Amino acid sequence: MNSKHRTAQPIYRCFIEGCNQRLPNSDSLRSHQQQHRYTSNTYHVAHQAFNHTSLVLRKYLHEEDGIQGFDFITSPDGIQEVGKIINSEVVQKNAITFSISLAINFVTYDIDGGISKQITPCFSSKPSYINNVSRYNTKQILLSSVLEITKRNDDFIDKGSGWTLQSFKWLDLHITQVNDLRGGCSDRMIDPFKNIPLYKAGLLNISNDDNMCLL
Ligand SMILES: [Zn+2]
Repeated sequence: MNSKHRTAQPIYRCFIEGCNQRLPNSDSLRSHQQQHRYTSNTYHVAHQAFNHTSLVLRKYLHEEDGIQGFDFITSPDGIQEVGKIINSEVVQKNAITFSISLAINFVTYDIDGGISKQITPCFSSKPSYINNVSRYNTKQILLSSVLEITKRNDDFIDKGSGWTLQSFKWLDLHITQVNDLRGGCSDRMIDPFKNIPLYKAGLLNISNDDNMCLL
C-alpha cells in the first residue's frame, strides 16, 4: 500500500512574519531566508556580548521628536522597523528572547518652578520567546510590552514621589539567542502538576525569573 505519508514531500515553510513561503528543501529555505536579513538605520548596537548572541539595539529619542506618550513604540512605523529587526535576528539566531526597555527622564520641580531633581530610570518588559519554526506577531509582542512598561511607569509616578515625566531618552531592544535545550521554568508547564498532590512527593516545583537555571 502506498500511503500518503510515504509519497508526500515534506514542506519547508518560512515562518518569518509576513512571509509564509513554502520551499522544497532545507537548503532552499536557508538561502531564501537570507533576504530577511536587515540592518536598521534607526537602532544601533549599544551593547553586545558573546559574538552578538546577546545584543542591545538602541534608538535615541530626542525632545524635538515631539514624543508625548508611549504610542510611538506601537505606531505602524515603529512596529514595522522592530518587525524587520526581529525577522533578521530570528533568521540568524533561530531562537531568541526579545524584550524592550525604555529610559525616561523624570524631574521634580521646586516651589519656584525650577528643576530640583532629575532621574532616568529604565523600565523593561518581560522577555518574549520567538523562534523560526512557529508564527509570531511583532505587533502583539510590542503591545503587551508597552502595557507592562506603562504599568511600571504608572507605579513609579503613583508612589507620591512628585516625579514628572520630562522626556524619553532611549528605547532599547534586548535580543538574546537561546538554545532549544534551554534553562528557565514555565509556570504553564508546571501548572498541571500543581493539581495532582500525589506528584508533589517527588516533584520539585522550581520557579525562577531568569533563564540561568541550567548553568
Ligand atoms: Zn521568508
